Amino acid sequence: MEPQSLASHREAQFELSGHFSVMGDDCIKCASCSTLAPAIFHIETDGAHITRQPADAIEFKECQAAMINCPTSAIVCCYD
Ligand code: SF4
Repeated sequence: MEPQSLASHREAQFELSGHFSVMGDDCIKCASCSTLAPAIFHIETDGAHITRQPADAIEFKECQAAMINCPTSAIVCCYD
């Protein structure tokens, strides 16, 4: 494995150790997260919920985008 791809692989493995969750009381049901990461977030009457954790680096990046763009900072990511 080339140094560059090895570094990318390690970065992806580190990032995938994160665990996303929604702080329900802070959610205003804007649906930004379910638009940016539709496989991960869904909206119910009481707010956004996590369907499952991201399965690969692409889904992880989508979750990060959802977290960054959440207008109330209701999405959090905890690293193992
Ligand atoms: S982006 Fe934030 S406020 Fe909007 S639905 Fe998702 S968790 Fe709720």
